[in-house]
Amino acid sequence: MTALRRIVVVGASLGGLRAAEELRSQGFDGSLTVVGDEVHAPYDRPPLSKQVLAGSWEPERTELTVFADGGLAALGIDWRLGTVAKGLDPAARELVLADGERLGYDGLVIATGATPRRLPGTDRIGGVHTLRTLDDCLAVRADLDAGARRVVVVGAGFIGSEVAATCRSRGLDVTILEALPVPLGQALGEAMGAVMGDLHRDHGVDVRVGTAVAGFDAGDADAAGGGRRVERVRLADGAAIDADLVVVGIGVTPNTGWLEGSGLALDDGVMCDATTRAAPGVVAAGDVARWPSRRFAELMRVEHWDNAITMGEHAARRLLAGDGPGHHEPYDPVPWFWSDQYDRKIQLAGRSSGADEVRVVDGSTAERRFVALYRRGDRITGALAMNRPRPLMTYRRLIERAATWGDALAESSSLPT
Ligand SMILES: Cc1cc2nc3c(=O)[nH]c(=O)nc-3n(C[C@H](O)[C@H](O)[C@H](O)COP(=O)(O)OP(=O)(O)OC[C@H]3O[C@@H](n4cnc5c(N)ncnc54)[C@H](O)[C@@H]3O)c2cc1C
Repeated sequence: MTALRRIVVVGASLGGLRAAEELRSQGFDGSLTVVGDEVHAPYDRPPLSKQVLAGSWEPERTELTVFADGGLAALGIDWRLGTVAKGLDPAARELVLADGERLGYDGLVIATGATPRRLPGTDRIGGVHTLRTLDDCLAVRADLDAGARRVVVVGAGFIGSEVAATCRSRGLDVTILEALPVPLGQALGEAMGAVMGDLHRDHGVDVRVGTAVAGFDAGDADAAGGGRRVERVRLADGAAIDADLVVVGIGVTPNTGWLEGSGLALDDGVMCDATTRAAPGVVAAGDVARWPSRRFAELMRVEHWDNAITMGEHAARRLLAGDGPGHHEPYDPVPWFWSDQYDRKIQLAGRSSGADEVRVVDGSTAERRFVALYRRGDRITGALAMNRPRPLMTYRRLIERAATWGDALAESSSLPT
């Protein structure tokens, strides 16, 4: 075991909590402080665009639990919730909080996640939302419960697509506006992105691609002093769409602003080495962390639930291993995520970007039940499944083994139906 006696985790969410849990399960018995700017105890975000938004779950169900006997309390964490970290002095090994307090540490885990990008000029218009936090979700849900009927989703990424699906399931009129030629084109490529667009059209969503938003029209402030609410979304081509509620899902920015000037390398995230180490005594994990993946020969920053868990755990072990020389296990997973839209479960394992070929090897896109594989050179690098969870896991294992494209295609003949 190591000489670390004081560890501070910044970010009280999935990556931070899993790191804290792993520190304890590895035997770390020193002081453990978790600093988080939200006031809530750690909660899970995926239900925010699904069950909680639909109204089928109450927010309490999203609370994150831990596997240790005795639950969260057994971890012996000094929780500093509602507390913003505003700076870091790595030489002095001190974290600076917004009120000026300095928290000394021997080891630090950075797990500050990401913040949604906003559209300029929308801050003071009621009914225009982003969706990242529980409070965001409850604000959108309150507008839906108050009778919003016409929903416009700006950006057809995963969050926007899920919000669209959930709002349709509530019987609302939904329009998706996407600047690129297909929904989810960056995540899945053009061909599979087109399938995602068709899935929404099947369910009566007005999907408009290649469309830029020019601005928003809002009504007058009401007599009771309420703010101006959105009434219309104006498009660059001159069209306008009536809207009671707008959800903007145009991507996120990693939360690294508080680390400016710290000397840590920041470039679309906290830059780590291949083992998740960012500086002496500092590791990073989850949506905020960027690292070189040897497996995929690229710098990766992954905004998925599963990665926040496995990277949080890896970073905790890396921190305990210390700064001395020796072999340190690289963090080199096959990323995996799921998305629930209507009655479809969409899963992607590995990487879809930079593919030389995308081939449907099982089922068909017309049935909305299929597996498609992504090839780079002579290797399988990614697999996308719609309502085919078991085969997806088979291909994930093949990607883990760096299987050839030929081996992956051969596997498709023995898939379960
Ligand atoms: C609505 C929604 C639905 C999703 N659905 C899916 C899904 O279906 N499948 C999937 O794979 N993934 C999904 N995700 C992604 C997944 O939830 C994230 O990848 C995961 O939450 C990342 O965890 P994290 O701990 O790295 O970051 P976060 O969960 O973002 O947590 C970071 C925490 O740090 C806090 N923080 C930031 N800056 C500071 C600071 N300076 N001081 C103190 N605290 C700070 C933040 O407020 C936040 O509480 C979804 C995300 C959202 C928002």
